[in-house]
Amino acid sequence: MKISFIPAFKDNYIWLLTQGKRAFVVDPGDAAPVIARLHADDLTLEGILITHHHADHQGGVGELAARWQVEVYAPGSESIAGCTRPLSGGEQIDVLGQPVEVMAVPGHTLGHLAYVAPGALFCGDTLFGAGCGRLFEGTPAQMSASLDRFAALPDDTRVYCAHEYTEMNLRFALAVEPQNAALLARVERVAALRAAGLPSVPSTLGDERATNPFLRTSAPAVIEAGLQQGAASRDKTDVFAAIRAWRNSF
Ligand code: ZN
Ligand code: FE
Repeated sequence: MKISFIPAFKDNYIWLLTQGKRAFVVDPGDAAPVIARLHADDLTLEGILITHHHADHQGGVGELAARWQVEVYAPGSESIAGCTRPLSGGEQIDVLGQPVEVMAVPGHTLGHLAYVAPGALFCGDTLFGAGCGRLFEGTPAQMSASLDRFAALPDDTRVYCAHEYTEMNLRFALAVEPQNAALLARVERVAALRAAGLPSVPSTLGDERATNPFLRTSAPAVIEAGLQQGAASRDKTDVFAAIRAWRNSF
């Protein structure tokens, strides 16, 4: 399975999965760039994976389903137009002949799903490069537990998130952990990529574990930063809540 991206809107990535001429897309918020790419590469769309209900992730489903006979996998508890395969997490689905695990990761939205293919995590708006999604519907405890589920995946898992937010997130990560050497190195690496017009994603879970403050709520420096921001205790969820609230006003 090959994975590439289709840029959409200002900073969305629609992930394109292909096996020969067969294709799946993840979170097609806009149909036009997907149709253009499928036609250009002479691909047949077989399925769509949706992580959550926000328009920038599902807005293109109707137009795509009108052109190709597709299965639409999506959170059953959210309102997704055209969903044919409602999921709740814990299922295993077949994507272009590969087993993909469906993971419930509430927090950004309550029904948010992630899709875990061999070596690849499609995490929507739950985990970003050096950051995480806003808590629109869930609680800090839910989001923190969702991120813990990602953190249990192997270091070399590639993280295919839905937005190019890494540079912005790194500025915040540096405020949390100014002494983190891996973080300082990543800032350089990402600045070079972006200056060259290249995406900063996918990253790896190893990168995120080493530099993403929201996966580091057990690290002493992040706990101290959380306490300074008013965390009620050194507990993971309290530290996560304080860091997430700080990020919102950063
Ligand atoms: Zn969203
Ligand atoms: Fe989004």
